Amino acid sequence: MINKHSASEVWFVTGSQHLYGDEVLKTVATHAKEIASGLGGGDVSVKVVCKEVMTGPESITRLCHEANQSNDCLGLITWMHTFSPAKMWIGGLKVLVKPILHLHTQFNSEIPWGTIDMNFMNLNQSAHGDREFGYIMSRMKINRKVVVGHWKDEGVKKQIGVWTRAAAAWHDWQGARFCRFGDNMRQVAVTEGDKVEAEIQFGYSVNGYGIGDLARVIDQVTDKEVDQLVKIYEDMYQLSSPLQKAGVQRKSLTDAARIEIGMRQFLKDGNFRGFTTTFEDLHGLPQLPGIAVQRLMADGYGFGAEGDWKTSALVRAMKVMGAGLPGGSSFMEDYTYHFDKRDQLVLGAHMLEICPSIAKAKPSCEVHPLSIGGKEDPVRLVFDVGAGAAINASMIDLGDKFRLLVNEVEAVEPREPMPKLPVARVLWRPLPDMQTGCAAWIQAGGAHHTCFSQNLTSEHLTDFARIAGVEMVRIGAGTTMDSLGRDLQTFNT
Ligand code: MN
Repeated sequence: MINKHSASEVWFVTGSQHLYGDEVLKTVATHAKEIASGLGGGDVSVKVVCKEVMTGPESITRLCHEANQSNDCLGLITWMHTFSPAKMWIGGLKVLVKPILHLHTQFNSEIPWGTIDMNFMNLNQSAHGDREFGYIMSRMKINRKVVVGHWKDEGVKKQIGVWTRAAAAWHDWQGARFCRFGDNMRQVAVTEGDKVEAEIQFGYSVNGYGIGDLARVIDQVTDKEVDQLVKIYEDMYQLSSPLQKAGVQRKSLTDAARIEIGMRQFLKDGNFRGFTTTFEDLHGLPQLPGIAVQRLMADGYGFGAEGDWKTSALVRAMKVMGAGLPGGSSFMEDYTYHFDKRDQLVLGAHMLEICPSIAKAKPSCEVHPLSIGGKEDPVRLVFDVGAGAAINASMIDLGDKFRLLVNEVEAVEPREPMPKLPVARVLWRPLPDMQTGCAAWIQAGGAHHTCFSQNLTSEHLTDFARIAGVEMVRIGAGTTMDSLGRDLQTFNT
């Protein structure tokens, strides 16, 4: 499980200048410390480190270089307590590669009507100081999140917390390695893409590995290791009778355990953060990895089926973003529709590979034929997913650019049991409604593979897209086909 983020801090950077004298600067520094310590904890899951007050171009540039080099620093929260002439920031901002959140706040929450004087006005100038800073970032085309409000407001901390999670996922992508077992499913378009461009823009690399090399690692797994994992399966899941001790398909379970141990070893040895498989390339494996993929996803690995590396990377990012939050995220596919006039729904599932982090109750562990791929029956975890707000996200490659799509959805309880459907599944209602949600998704080119998340909102993905410099289409409450058309036109200009 990803319980905490690999980088652990954001830097709180306050801007000022020497114009007002040392006393004012001392007060600015005191206030900055108080704000930084007030922002930490609660929604902000990483440490907020207060840096010295910035008063000139040399120290600003030095700080930005330090931020770039620091492996602990996820990004910068900037705030101009006084007026901080923004030409001083150009040199630093030009080299800065870490994400920025611009906190537009001030130390005091209210105007002290009876005592306000020119000293107070000299000190508390963020209302215009932050506009100067915003201008230079807009002029330099620097993507950032702007959060407005008093620093003690819960809403402000919430927005900062969302951004730190997005920044943590971005940090995790830098230098991340994704492993592909086999190529894309033959002839499929949307799972293809430009891996070189992805590495340039997103910082992660995607490379292919021979399925035979994985098979060799799997073959070296010992019976003792298999027995230990099967014991874990027995503890964690409800085994269907053919898989139980002396059951007719017990060997399928031990084969599945062997595959999981081998895959886990391979991914660990290669320091991978996610992977893809394809049912069309399984030479040397007795069955399509089902439970193995499901459990690896639950442990934080990104995954995409049929060679879908873009979704694998996105699943990984969303798992990092949601670290420690209740609920989970999973690889997902829009499978089939319920066009009942009063209750229009999407049934999401995959052949096997849905992450048990989104399971409503103890999964059952079952074995059934797959009908494609020509291998032995694969073992998989079967479960339903609980009701509640969720999102589906998809990254597509449009040839000249990537696009991130997010659909806000309302997951609902299964309307009736589905005793003959042997896969994990979830039902949802797309927002704003079935017609608009699906039409907008298809109009914007969204894929059939997504990452379904119970613990993230479109705000997380908006922040992430902004950091990544990728265009994002949000489809949710308030979306109309007209507003979507305007969004797509804006992106095309
Ligand atoms: Mn698929």
